[in-house]
Amino acid sequence: MKGMKCRCGFATVSEKAKCPRCGRIMKPAEWPDEAKVLSFSELHVVPEGTEDPYNLVLVEIGKKGPKIPCWTSGKMKENDEVTIIDRDGKYFCTPRTELTETSSKLNR
Ligand SMILES: [Zn+2]
Repeated sequence: MKGMKCRCGFATVSEKAKCPRCGRIMKPAEWPDEAKVLSFSELHVVPEGTEDPYNLVLVEIGKKGPKIPCWTSGKMKENDEVTIIDRDGKYFCTPRTELTETSSKLNR
């Protein structure tokens, strides 16, 4: 997925010209869709348009990449490896092993 990065180490998936941390002009970056779980929160509120209960996970993309919140229907723990799916600007993530099953469900 596309994003931006700065020499100071700041990384993001949004299109910002200037670094919010140090004010330098950032450079475009291409991030992998593979990420690692930093923290997991179980939610009991279901976002509009979804049937399943959804949970919120904070993930880190690649090595020292952006940290972004993602939705997931599964349960995860810290350091789990996940794949990120960008759906209309909303990020979902799924454990690597369950990718095939979950993508077919999402594309229903
Ligand atoms: Zn910076």
